[in-house]
Amino acid sequence: MTTADGGQAKTESTAEEMRLVLDAMPVAVAHCDAEQRYVFANQVYASRFGLTPEQVVGRSVAEVLGEELCAQIHPYTERVLAGESVQYDADADYAALGRRHVHCSCTPVRDAAGRVTGWVATVTDITERHHTEQMLERYRLLAGNAHDIVLFVRRDGRIVEANTAALAAYGYEREELLRATVFDLRDPSSGPLTADQMAEADQRGVTFETIHRRKDGSRFPVEVSSRGTDVAGERLLLSIVRDISERRRAEEALRDADRRKDEFLATLAHELRNPLAPIRNAVQILRLKGEAHGDALFARDIIDRQVQQLARLVDDLLDVSRITRGTIDLRQERAEVTAVVEQALETSRPLLDAASHRLSVSLPAEPLWVMADVTRLAQVLSNLLNNAAKYTRAGGHIHLAVESDGSDAVIRVHDDGIGIPPQMLRRIFELFAQVDTSLERAQGGLGLGLTIAQRLVEMHGGTITAASDGPGTGSELTVRLPLLPMPRESAAADGDDRRTGEPNARAELRVLVVDDNNDSADSLATWLELAGHQVRTAYDGPQALAAAEEFQPRVILLDIGMPGMSGYDVARRLREQPATRDVLLLAMTGWGQDEDRRKSREAGFDEHLVKPLDPLLLKDLLARHAT
Ligand code: ADP
Repeated sequence: MTTADGGQAKTESTAEEMRLVLDAMPVAVAHCDAEQRYVFANQVYASRFGLTPEQVVGRSVAEVLGEELCAQIHPYTERVLAGESVQYDADADYAALGRRHVHCSCTPVRDAAGRVTGWVATVTDITERHHTEQMLERYRLLAGNAHDIVLFVRRDGRIVEANTAALAAYGYEREELLRATVFDLRDPSSGPLTADQMAEADQRGVTFETIHRRKDGSRFPVEVSSRGTDVAGERLLLSIVRDISERRRAEEALRDADRRKDEFLATLAHELRNPLAPIRNAVQILRLKGEAHGDALFARDIIDRQVQQLARLVDDLLDVSRITRGTIDLRQERAEVTAVVEQALETSRPLLDAASHRLSVSLPAEPLWVMADVTRLAQVLSNLLNNAAKYTRAGGHIHLAVESDGSDAVIRVHDDGIGIPPQMLRRIFELFAQVDTSLERAQGGLGLGLTIAQRLVEMHGGTITAASDGPGTGSELTVRLPLLPMPRESAAADGDDRRTGEPNARAELRVLVVDDNNDSADSLATWLELAGHQVRTAYDGPQALAAAEEFQPRVILLDIGMPGMSGYDVARRLREQPATRDVLLLAMTGWGQDEDRRKSREAGFDEHLVKPLDPLLLKDLLARHAT
């Protein structure tokens, strides 16, 4: 049986044990009476205010908590004293700890009669958890409102987290997406995503473009940036997926605009060639008649030179549109570099002479063989010589040197002209690039020549570079072409002296000229008559067929682009007729691409001549057939 004293002692020791337990807890615990005075506070509770439990007991809540916190919790203590258990979060400014975020759980204490005599509160410091929750919420909002798709993916491809944009983009419910893998999102046309690629993304991070598929099967292009990351002890891939449909559309629109620009350039160049042909023919007529003197002679030569210059610009325009469309084909053969040099010098000589430049040429003792389209390479070299002539003051020195460095044929064109600023040395090879000063602009040009030259040299497996010590110090342009290892027997020399520009007076052929441009047809006819040929003209397809039957020409010069019946149609009909089956059929056209040449060959043409016709070429052709 327990004595009263013994019972008292036991109760005290139980209370002491309870206090020890409560002191050892990491949670703050306090007991207040109905007058809001502390009856008990554990160690943690008191220490937050920089006090001991003994200092807290007996004081009022307002004294210990301070006015601000007291006002904050007042509504809750009212409810507790009214008999309700309440839980709430509060921001407390503790004397010992500073500002903390706490969670309070308050329960009323009742006497034997059930009256509320006070309350007990446990206060847990949840500052860290609160921060984490805040941060999580911010990141959730960030990812949720991002325009890009954000996915967390396991190494096995399973999707473990996806933002709102992902759900909207793929059309899946969240649960469906979290049951899917990244392999399901990828369209089969893009090929499978391999384990190696996943590992690469994990280790180094990857960015690639591919096609993804929505739930409804529709597809959209995406750019995926994926990298491995540790998320709370788990290794995941963080993938940012961007829908690039818009970008693709913009790129396509740009390409389309670019294509149309190229087509326009090609058409423009073609249309510009048409009026050039008759002008050039007319100049030839004037030259052959030899009647011009004084001012008329001067004027004729101006027309001649300017038409040639115009023809060069138009050629550049055509070439550049072919280059940008990738439609240039080379006719490569084993060739000796000096053959290229000779042809280029022949073309550029008039420009060099006109500016009274002194030209020196040094050639290697041994022939250098390269694989080359001689005409195209000569065009490159002639462009360099023309530039040297253009960008050097009259009476300058231009040196052309050819040598071997063992593996390459090296062709240098050196001038002592205006030079090139260092920052322009690379840029001059870009489309339309020009060193823009009045001196150079006075020389005209479209800034296309070096772009064409570079492309052509690269198509030959070579390089072209520019060097200069700057303005006023001259320039050197260097072309390198891979040498062919085996020398070949020397090529047959082209010994003819044909570059006179006059028709061959000895030949006499019956020639029919067909062109819907009357000027073009008539001027060519006159030139041919002066050359001693018998000529007829026709201005459309049916006229041409009738004239061919009646006139029985040996040669027909036939324009291709004619309204109604095209040159191709006329050619096919001519080849069908026994009387004209073997006639020499020459196509005249502004279109000189390989595709055009193929078409004219298929229609039955023997040769494809590009307008404006080169009189020398025509003279040669006719001479060869004047039998
Ligand atoms: P274009 O001569 O028609 O302007 P190019 O592509 O041939 O076009 O040359 C581009 C630019 O490079 C020229 O406008 C000129 O400024 C510069 N350039 C080319 N060759 C030389 C040179 N030998 N000396 C100085 N500048 C040159």
